[in-house]
This record gives sequence, C-alpha cells and structure tokens, in this order.
Amino acid sequence: MRPYERFLKYVMFDTTSDESSKTVPSTPGQKVLGQALVDEIRGFGIEDVYMDDKGYVYGSVPSNIEKEVPVIGFIAHVDTVEDHPSPKSAPRIIEKYDGSVIRLDAGIELDPATDVNLQKAVGCDLVVTDGTTLLGGDDKAGVAEIVTALEYMAQHPEFRHGKIAFSFTPDEEIGESQTNFDVQAFGARFAYTVDGADFGDIEYENFNAASVAVEIKGVATHPGEAKDVMKNASIIAMEFAGLLPPWERPEHTADFEGFYHLLHIEGDCQQCRMRYMIREHDADKFAARKETIKAAADLLNARYGAGTVTAQIEDSYHNMSEMIRPHMHLIDFAKAAIEECGAVPRVPAIRGGTDGSDLSFKGVPCPNMGTGSWNHHSVMEMANIDHMDKCAEAIVRIIGKYAEFEG
Ligand SMILES: [Zn+2]
Repeated sequence: MRPYERFLKYVMFDTTSDESSKTVPSTPGQKVLGQALVDEIRGFGIEDVYMDDKGYVYGSVPSNIEKEVPVIGFIAHVDTVEDHPSPKSAPRIIEKYDGSVIRLDAGIELDPATDVNLQKAVGCDLVVTDGTTLLGGDDKAGVAEIVTALEYMAQHPEFRHGKIAFSFTPDEEIGESQTNFDVQAFGARFAYTVDGADFGDIEYENFNAASVAVEIKGVATHPGEAKDVMKNASIIAMEFAGLLPPWERPEHTADFEGFYHLLHIEGDCQQCRMRYMIREHDADKFAARKETIKAAADLLNARYGAGTVTAQIEDSYHNMSEMIRPHMHLIDFAKAAIEECGAVPRVPAIRGGTDGSDLSFKGVPCPNMGTGSWNHHSVMEMANIDHMDKCAEAIVRIIGKYAEFEG
C-alpha cells in the first residue's frame, strides 16, 4: 500500500489533542488510531507492537543480519492541532497537478505564485482539504510513511537491516508527547522524527531558548509632589526595552538570526513586570544575549538605585545540534538517502523546538525528516503524494545504510 492510501484512512480518525484536558492522552480518539496502527502493523506479521495505557505505540522489527549495528528508531505523532477540525469527509485528490490556482470548496485559493511548494509540485498528485478543515498531514503523513516502510521490511525478507524501533506518540501539538515517552521501551540508540515540512528537509538545528522575568520596582508619589522622588516603573520598563537592539526582534529576523521577544508587559508607576523570550541557534550568541539582558538591568540599577530592576533568566531548551554533531552519520545517511530518491537535501534552521530536541538530550540523538506535506495547522494544508512515496523510500534507504554501519 502506498503512504497516501494509508494517510487517507488515518485522516478520518479525529485525533485533535486538547490543551485543557487533564487526561493522558488528552483525547480518546488518539488511542483509537493508536490501536488501529497496532492492528495494522501486526497484520504485516510484525509481532513486537503494542500501545501502552497512555496511548504511546511502541514496536520493533528484529535484525536479520549477523553484524552488530545500532538500533535505529522512527517516530511520528498521531495527534493533530486544535486550530481547525479534522476532515469530515474524504479529502480531495488532485491528479497530475498542472500548476494552476487550486480553488477549494470553501472558496479559498491555493496559489503557486505565493506557495513555493506548490510550484515544486507541478506534475505530482496532491491531497487538499475542502477549505474548512485541517488535512492532518502534521503528522499523519509521517505516520503513514513509517508504517509503509515497516510494511516494506515485512514483505521483503531479503532486505538486510539491523533492529528497527518505531513509536507513534500522542499530544505532540500540546507539547506533551515527550512527557510520558518511555526511552527504554523505545530502545533506539539513534532516531529520526518524521514530522512536518518539505520532503528533502533534514533538520537538526533548533533554537537555544530562555525566558526572562523582569521585575521593576518604582517609587510612586502624588504627581504634584514627585520632583526628585518618583521613579515610574513603567517608564523604566520602556527604557529597559529601549536598551535591547530594536532590529533583533522576531519581526525582523529569519533563518539563523536570533531575537529578544517581549511577550508581556503589565504595570503602573509602583511596579512593572515584563516577560521576554530569548532565542538563538548559536551557543555563544545565546550566552551573549543573556549578558545583554543583565547589562541592561545593571545600567538601570546604576541610574535608579540598586534593586530597581531584577531580570531572572531561565533556560527552556537547547539546540540539539550539540547532541547530533558527534553522530553526523545521522545527517549524512539521511542526505544520501534523499539524494538517491531524486531529491535535493536541505538543512534548514528550526525556528522553535522539536520533540527530537528533547529526545536528543535524553540520549537518543534525533534529527527530523520532512514528510512532503505543508501549510500545517491551516485549512490550506496540502500533501504531495509523490513526495510521500519518496519519504517512505528514504526511510527504507536509511535503514539499509545502517545495516552497513561502521562506527
Ligand atoms: Zn508535527
């Protein structure tokens, strides 16, 4: 079965995760799809596959070679984002896309003039929505591609491979997929998330991230008697903001450029609180950004008196590249596999965090592979059927390369 055929089945399961839910997984539909995946994979003759009580599917395919090679894992998430509903009827397929504007049922237009992926999809078969729902390619495209690679291994006993682990996780979109992820049960030495983005993309550079809580203590007096006494905390907050480079903000940065982002500000004359986030790929530049925050606080304390401004910096997550770099075979094998599938590998910056980042810091270095679906979290979502085939093929090729691994 081709990945898109499975994909069309999976998208009909409502697996929207719910941030406000107290249960694990956050919604019951995720377990329904999880169980369907277990049944499907068992149907291939793969015996080691199960779902735990929290809705995580784990499994493995035993090695069929003599040689000791590392266990390689593949991960995708079954949930979809809350922003829009799941499809209510089968999504539409566009055969041999001709490069023209696509008009969805709801009247929305998908225009190749403003969508590079659509330009690249001329001649390919596509899946689109009706314009009112998600497709769910994030990350059911990844699920379909991994399951297709498993089916290939089951049907081709002559294909030589080491032990392969796989997992399908719930609640990624609400940031909880790693919370209950059992690294031991997964059992991989190295892994790939197959989640989102263009096929051919291989990602391992995410942000270093920190949050900053700024607290400013002012002196409030009657404004008529304020001369040389009043210190207006809100004005000092504005000075603080003014000390950070104005062009280093999210709205002025891209690719590997970091930023300071003012998330929240609230206060009066007596007191003002600000919350910032700091993002930066490079570790030295990340450290320098924290120093800039401290220097701004010091300068204002020198101006207004010690203790006026405090800035508490807390690290949130780190760039996984430091965990990947000692194991560049992960990237080299993926790039080679993508090339063998006739695509051009790209290594873009991730301007956020990823599940693979968490897992990398738990000891399982884990870059991400693009799936061939795009415009995620939007009714304009699309999946490229031909690129999904290639992604499944690339997974198989990576597995093949690790059967020859010397390391
Ligand atoms: Zn995703």
